[in-house]
Amino acid sequence: MKKQIKKIAVMTSGGDSPGMNAAIRAVIRTAVFYKLDPYGIYRGYQGLIEGDIERFTARDVSNIINRGGTILKTARSKEFRTVEGRKKAYEQLKKHDIDALVVIGGDGSFTGAQIFSKEFDFPVIGIPATIDNDIFGTDFSIGFDTASNTATEAIDKIRDTASSHDRLFFIEVMGRNAGFLALYSGIAGGAEEILIPEENIGIDRLVESLRRSKRAGKTSSIVVVAEGDKTGKNVFELAEYVEENLKEYESRVVIVGHIQRGGCPTTFDRVLASRLGVRAVEVLLDGESDVMVGFRNNTVEVTPLEEAIKLKREINKELLAIVDILTT
Ligand code: ATP
Repeated sequence: MKKQIKKIAVMTSGGDSPGMNAAIRAVIRTAVFYKLDPYGIYRGYQGLIEGDIERFTARDVSNIINRGGTILKTARSKEFRTVEGRKKAYEQLKKHDIDALVVIGGDGSFTGAQIFSKEFDFPVIGIPATIDNDIFGTDFSIGFDTASNTATEAIDKIRDTASSHDRLFFIEVMGRNAGFLALYSGIAGGAEEILIPEENIGIDRLVESLRRSKRAGKTSSIVVVAEGDKTGKNVFELAEYVEENLKEYESRVVIVGHIQRGGCPTTFDRVLASRLGVRAVEVLLDGESDVMVGFRNNTVEVTPLEEAIKLKREINKELLAIVDILTT
């Protein structure tokens, strides 16, 4: 018979993303609502191994829904990748009498959670939070909306100077091996070209397309480049190559960088984090484990962690298609 859940712990793990605090708040308050004892684990799996665990009350998460980052801090733990490390983590949970764990993070954190759950028969639930938006089983992960708004704002500002000086700007946005952030901010910012890892258009086609748009009367251009794009050149080399082969333009490079990870979460991210946080606790109470709560087709849905980790979230082809049309 499954043990009744009375005490649950929540942690944030992997890269931080705006909205993690809203998810922590939702998990803690939902636990209190259902008369459970909530705990917060600091610094992800590393903090768990070291016993950096505290009892939380509903008031401990006041005034955090609007804040970026994570009050629980986050970490990457090498030790948790070892059986010995995970055993220490389990012992800490037992010491505090904790019955279940909610992990807010990306697919790496979910992989760790799943291995741990299988090894120790311990209930875990995942909440997707990464600005890369690359997790299968959810249309949006917490932080993506805020990060894409930040990237769009950066593009808007750069557009002012690009058009004043008739320049070509290459703007690199985050996203690691996924192009979602580049695609969304590129469309929203009206970029002429968007280079993403999922579709390699090739540098020469890029040059050709920029030449065509110049001939069509455009005096400035913006190319949004995902950090994981597959052109084989970094953004500086890319700009240099294009400048050599397209003398009509003077080009500049901007790397938007870590500002995309910070700042106040948008309304969308706060609502998403709140919904997923509530549901995470409810599915635990329903006896589920090894699942991720996600947001699909405008409803909160549950996906096995195994699928969330192994399956690849595909880029929306319709979005790719409209880029070609809108840059005419
Ligand atoms: P982000 O997408 O922002 O990078 P993430 O959750 O994917 O977030 P990772 O650094 O990949 O970030 O993973 C976070 C932590 O999860 C790791 O530091 C490690 O402690 C744990 N983890 C990842 N993969 C494994 C694994 N195969 N076995 C055990 N633990 C793992």
